[in-house]
Amino acid sequence: MERIVILGAAESGFGSAVLAKTKGFDVFVSDRGAIKDDYKADFIVRGIEFEEGGHSMDKILTAKEVIKSPGIPDTAEAVKAVRKAGIPVISEIEFAGRYNTARTVCVTGSNGKTTTTTLIYELLKAAGYKVGIGGNIGKSFAYQVATAKNDWYVLELSSFQLDGMFDFRADVAVLMNITPDHLDRYDYKFENYVESKFRIIRNQTKNDVFIYSGDDPVTVEYMKKHIGLFQMRCMPFTVQDKLLEGAYINDNGCIDIDCMDTEFLFDVCRLKIQGIHNIYNAMAASLAARVAGVDGEIIAGVLEEFPGVEHRLEKVAVKRGVEYINDSKATNVDSVWYALESMTAPTVWIAGGQDKGNDYARLRDMARNKVKVLICMGVDNTKLVESFTGVIPFIYSTDSMEEAVAKAATVAKRGDAVLLSPACASFDLFRNYEERGRMFKEQVLNIEE
Ligand code: ADP
Repeated sequence: MERIVILGAAESGFGSAVLAKTKGFDVFVSDRGAIKDDYKADFIVRGIEFEEGGHSMDKILTAKEVIKSPGIPDTAEAVKAVRKAGIPVISEIEFAGRYNTARTVCVTGSNGKTTTTTLIYELLKAAGYKVGIGGNIGKSFAYQVATAKNDWYVLELSSFQLDGMFDFRADVAVLMNITPDHLDRYDYKFENYVESKFRIIRNQTKNDVFIYSGDDPVTVEYMKKHIGLFQMRCMPFTVQDKLLEGAYINDNGCIDIDCMDTEFLFDVCRLKIQGIHNIYNAMAASLAARVAGVDGEIIAGVLEEFPGVEHRLEKVAVKRGVEYINDSKATNVDSVWYALESMTAPTVWIAGGQDKGNDYARLRDMARNKVKVLICMGVDNTKLVESFTGVIPFIYSTDSMEEAVAKAATVAKRGDAVLLSPACASFDLFRNYEERGRMFKEQVLNIEE
């Protein structure tokens, strides 16, 4: 029996193990840290061998193939040893793709993946398809391929997952945008990160569709340079002039989805999610849905109702006439630019955390126009304070959510908004961005009227 080794037993590793076992492989799961109890219990029931708290390299190096969790970097010793032994390293998506018979919409980009993936899922579901959502969201793709029968999968793919994909082919590929992020995993070379994102179109043929931002300079430049790669049907979305078949904004302020020889119009004012970035997300998602054959009326119904995803410009409450907004998922500079862009009230902005080599220059003009007070919230606020001194009139330094929200409540006046949009990772003060967002909401709900 051929051995498949799975490195990392979080959601993707668990799903890969279940699928590999179902397909008759000799499966060995190895995690350097602890494995969740319910995964372990399931492994035992299914007769899947596993270890935690370290890697037994003798067992790992007998593998025919290794499925690596996207969270494990290439620099990890175990990965280096596997590569040195000439054993192929793939991602969960590549593995599951071999056994998948449903069609796939795959979404990547630096920002907007989760929102767009979720929206496409809702659109396909509303049309009556049997749909699975996976990748970075929900149950893993591999687990669903092993246990469910779907017509479509909508998959959110990070560049780390794409790096382990070789023969996989997306029926519909969606690339939202490319701005600097995670450069620490790409030798600090932006071009490596760009190449990784473009793996989304690997193996696509003329029968497949590529949906991309016609307004994203990095994407457009890459496509010009590599024109030979693009045999698939290309559908850009743009808020500027109409390009080829695709999505754009017409003279009456309507989203115009012009593809597959039909046209669908939707007034931007009817969109529930706010901000120009969400217009992009709605356009990309509607295009994907049209390609999958979803009717215009169904799309309109979903766009009017879709509330967005938790921690992404989420409206929390109005307290003493001040609106509080949770954008904890904004962990890079570009997502904050869009958050500030979408603000219509004078803004008290809470930002900071673990810096990822941020360049705040891009935010200065937007901050000057929109922000009246900056509340820095992190273990080390020096860089943030320095970057916005002279740009934002009032800057305060705090090192806890409690203190930050209390300060915001003191300085905000009726008619203002308080926006948590950190531009940084959360790990200096919180377990993850979800915990940061939840603590913000808790503190906000505690403010006395
Ligand atoms: P991802 O899954 O790529 O991180 P999310 O949908 O979770 O994307 O959104 C992450 C952050 O980026 C949020 O702060 C959100 O408000 C912002 N955002 C969402 N869509 C876009 C977009 N198309 N362009 C830029 N920022 C976006």
